[in-house]
Amino acid sequence: METPLDLLIVGAGPAGIAAGVEARLAGLERIQLLEKGPKPSWSIQKLYAPGKRVDRAYLGLDAPQEGVMDIQDCSKDACIALLDQAIKTHRLPVECDAEVWKLHKGEDGIFTAVDSRDRAWRARTVVLAIGVYGRPNKPGYPIPPTLKTQTHFDLNQIPSGTKVLVIGGGNTALEYADFLHREHDTTLAYRGAEFGKANDTNRGIVARLAAEGSLRVWMEADVESLAEAAEGPKAKVKFKAGAPVEVDQFDHIVYAIGGSTPETFLQAAGAQIHGKVPVVDSAYQSTVRGLYLAGDLIAGGKGSIIKAFNSAHRIVAGGICPGASQQPSGTEGP
Ligand SMILES: Cc1cc2nc3c(=O)[nH]c(=O)nc-3n(C[C@H](O)[C@H](O)[C@H](O)COP(=O)(O)OP(=O)(O)OC[C@H]3O[C@@H](n4cnc5c(N)ncnc54)[C@H](O)[C@@H]3O)c2cc1C
Repeated sequence: METPLDLLIVGAGPAGIAAGVEARLAGLERIQLLEKGPKPSWSIQKLYAPGKRVDRAYLGLDAPQEGVMDIQDCSKDACIALLDQAIKTHRLPVECDAEVWKLHKGEDGIFTAVDSRDRAWRARTVVLAIGVYGRPNKPGYPIPPTLKTQTHFDLNQIPSGTKVLVIGGGNTALEYADFLHREHDTTLAYRGAEFGKANDTNRGIVARLAAEGSLRVWMEADVESLAEAAEGPKAKVKFKAGAPVEVDQFDHIVYAIGGSTPETFLQAAGAQIHGKVPVVDSAYQSTVRGLYLAGDLIAGGKGSIIKAFNSAHRIVAGGICPGASQQPSGTEGP
């Protein structure tokens, strides 16, 4: 049987790539990254609007650089280029279109991960860096199956010229509304009275668009139900009492209401979860020895790229390779 990998990293987003970089610099040789998307950084590729501004202090929360990787305010393309360059510089093998659907630790202490092409990858240590966007939060009310092609959790397949409702009040919702209003008749609906979860820049953009009349913004507009409109394919949206409108119809609905920890996946791997939060030590090692959790998985809904980078550093410097000499901080970043 082939020698197990030193380190298997599941997910090639900011956390997974940074874990690979840190591990390489700490001296690990046999590293493999598996990525479910067709390219690395797939969440960013898929979920960030084209031309999006990437804020270092995302959600208004900055964090000092702890490890090798750093990021400054930049564009979506520059952010992807930074991550691609890290893969190249540190010779990180990334296998794309390889979604891991099963992970377990054998009695010999070796992990086996099975991917969507039924390949088994054996490793002594695993970093799970799969983010939370694989499981976007769904609304509490049912979405009729006939509206499947009308409802979205990212910006793909929304034809221009259509009437779109964006639901949510965080940075993602505001950025989606900003992007969509350019080629769509766009409404942003949020159940809250103010965009408390968004940063000042996004709030400013949305306020300006609303004042110009190029974006409808409905506050305290909590959706009660969705139904197929009589003259479908359209969604008939009913709002709860007190909303600016009672009912309206849209060609497409985009939900931007966050993502959640993939509890089932973690539990199947044997990792303990407390409530919705995975149990980890100070180096983000789960209750399964040798299985580390990085990035958004352990960020409690407040993840960012710099925090994902920092989590990878703590995992490698504090858990996988304690005491290994690291490159001085500030070596990689735009
Ligand atoms: C619209 C939007 C805008 C944002 N803007 C900013 C910003 O301006 N600044 C900022 O700092 N942060 C921003 N964020 C947050 C930031 O993108 C995340 O905090 C960061 O990407 C987390 O990195 P991660 O590696 O933990 O997870 P992810 O980036 O989600 O990466 C996880 C990777 O794992 C892959 N994967 C998932 N499941 C599997 C599996 N089973 N097998 C193999 N691979 C798998 C995914 O395809 C993905 O490539 C934004 C998020 C969104 C949604």
